[in-house]
Amino acid sequence: MEHSLKTSEERNFSEDVSYDNMESIASEKSHKRQVQTERHIQKDSIEKSIQDILDVLEPEAQRLQKTPHRVAQSYEEFFKGYTQSPEQIVGSALYDSPTEEMVLLCDIPFTSHCEHHMIPIIGFIHIGYIPDGKIIGASKLARFVDCFAYRLQLQERLTVEIATVLEQILVPKGVATYAIAEHFCISRRGVKKAGTKLITRHFSGMFRTDSSLRAEFLDSIPR
Ligand SMILES: [Zn+2]
Repeated sequence: MEHSLKTSEERNFSEDVSYDNMESIASEKSHKRQVQTERHIQKDSIEKSIQDILDVLEPEAQRLQKTPHRVAQSYEEFFKGYTQSPEQIVGSALYDSPTEEMVLLCDIPFTSHCEHHMIPIIGFIHIGYIPDGKIIGASKLARFVDCFAYRLQLQERLTVEIATVLEQILVPKGVATYAIAEHFCISRRGVKKAGTKLITRHFSGMFRTDSSLRAEFLDSIPR
């Protein structure tokens, strides 16, 4: 079965692999990622590292004395996703579904940081699923977005991770995710193409096999 729970779990905690090969990920790797998702962010270490950078840029500048602490506090917020797990977020917010129709949460804003440059990614994501007996509290969908966005990310992976966690938890008939975002490492540095947006999508289950359903999702989301 292509979208089994086991497959989804392996996908969710995978790293350093192409999405096409996620089914073959070893369980040790899954465990490694799971441990990483529950770790505490060590602000002391971040402060020390920021101080090292400041020592290069402006050695002994008194006015920057509190900057390492402020940056560390900001990082704690930007990367709070590492301290969260989807299982904690779900809690008891699963309910019997009164519908077999698509459930869609649109225009969920997100802020993330690209893992190549540690520069902001700012955008929106739309999440749709076809229930198979269960629905989840809509706010939980937005919390899943934050859980994965507030980490070092690739937008391509963010789109898959959010869909995969829904597959795991709800075991729905299908999941669709669509993200559109500005990457500051493209718009503000390097090629400096302001206004450029990256679009990533992921479809599973019925969304993958039924093109009319996929079209219905794409027609329903604001673009
Ligand atoms: Zn980047």
